[in-house]
Amino acid sequence: MAPMLERYVSPGKGNGLRATAKIRRGVLVTSAEPVAYCVSNKRAREVCHHCFTRCETLLRCSQCKMARYCNSACQKRAWPGHKKECRCLCSLLPRHPTDSVRLAARLIFTLLNPLQSSKEELYSIDEHESHLDSMPEQKKEGLSELATMLELYMKTEIPDLKQRMTSELPLSCREALSIIAKVTCNCFTISDGELQEIGVGLYPSLSLLNHDCRPNCVMVFNGTELQLRAVQDINPGEELRISYIETLSLTEDRQKQLEEQYHFTCHCQRCSSKEQDGVMLSGREAAWRQLKEALPRLEGLQLESNWLELLESCSNLLTSAGEEVPDENLYKLKITDMALDASVHLGRWEEALSFGLKTLPSYRLYYADPHPVHGVQLMRVGKLQHHLGCIEDALESFKEAFKILKLTHGEDHPLIVDLMMKMEECRSEIDLQQPSN
Ligand SMILES: [Zn+2]
Ligand SMILES: [Zn+2]
Ligand SMILES: [Zn+2]
Repeated sequence: MAPMLERYVSPGKGNGLRATAKIRRGVLVTSAEPVAYCVSNKRAREVCHHCFTRCETLLRCSQCKMARYCNSACQKRAWPGHKKECRCLCSLLPRHPTDSVRLAARLIFTLLNPLQSSKEELYSIDEHESHLDSMPEQKKEGLSELATMLELYMKTEIPDLKQRMTSELPLSCREALSIIAKVTCNCFTISDGELQEIGVGLYPSLSLLNHDCRPNCVMVFNGTELQLRAVQDINPGEELRISYIETLSLTEDRQKQLEEQYHFTCHCQRCSSKEQDGVMLSGREAAWRQLKEALPRLEGLQLESNWLELLESCSNLLTSAGEEVPDENLYKLKITDMALDASVHLGRWEEALSFGLKTLPSYRLYYADPHPVHGVQLMRVGKLQHHLGCIEDALESFKEAFKILKLTHGEDHPLIVDLMMKMEECRSEIDLQQPSN
């Protein structure tokens, strides 16, 4: 493990990671490759299953017809890890396993192949919590179904799966159910630079990171590599913390999500003080309540990609009840963001830009520390301004995005390289506009 951090027992939280030296914000604390990973089913047609690059045309595995690669080099490199999985996928056709079943199977293949997996990884997976004892029955039943699916999926490849797991794996990893529970509690969502989900992966050494609703570190991915960066200055001995969930939500909702998904009660400073809850609920309750109650239906439209109806509904709400609610109200912000999303999909750029601009002061307010979400939003707005010919505004937005993203993504990240190119384009377009006398 990198020398900037070490394992320790965090008071009241079990294992944790802490800084061994002073870490300035923006510094890459550590990076890690996953012991097992896979592309999400919903992205399976768009990204390379090996390097996670988004590609217009992908080569398809001729056998399972599911795995796709940007070129034969990626396919070749993926084969040792895909070979066994490929036969499992074929055996289940036309059905596809869920993401967690695929990931769990990949983990089991790795664990059963001691050449590939290091002792340290084996040890940490053994230590991963499964939370099976504290889990509500209903959730446990759901996991049991996944475990049955996992056994069925792996049957053709490893007919004596149960015996092999019992004789070769650490005590806590010997049952399909406990593996599935560990995987669902400890996997990380792998996203691209613009924070779109691409897949799931297991990074055992970083599963030790505890949660905070105002974290001092963020995780960003470059391909499948996880990079942990400081977003605050951190003192030696201080615990390194990330947020397991979207931080832009009310204390009550964050706590509920953490309890349901991660089985603990958050006692962080932000939860104790409930700071920001008041601002997030600003405005007259009867007005914002209408926005809040409309959200589930709007989220449904978004999921169905029904952009036209989504944009109409959002616009109507924003001009009726939304009119008297301040922009920083959480529900208004969510609806404005959905309207932005819908108008981008519909190619209605002017509308998109006006929605985007409305969100920025709230993003600035709620993301006090550098945060990828804030940087990406600024970049989105900058692209719209650029597209609409507002070059100087675009350059300003890109510069502001750069200040944040160079801290959260690092200067070598493809997203930053892209952003720097955009800034260069703006500068040369501005130069061209200047009268040449
Ligand atoms: Zn690739
Ligand atoms: Zn295949
Ligand atoms: Zn908290």
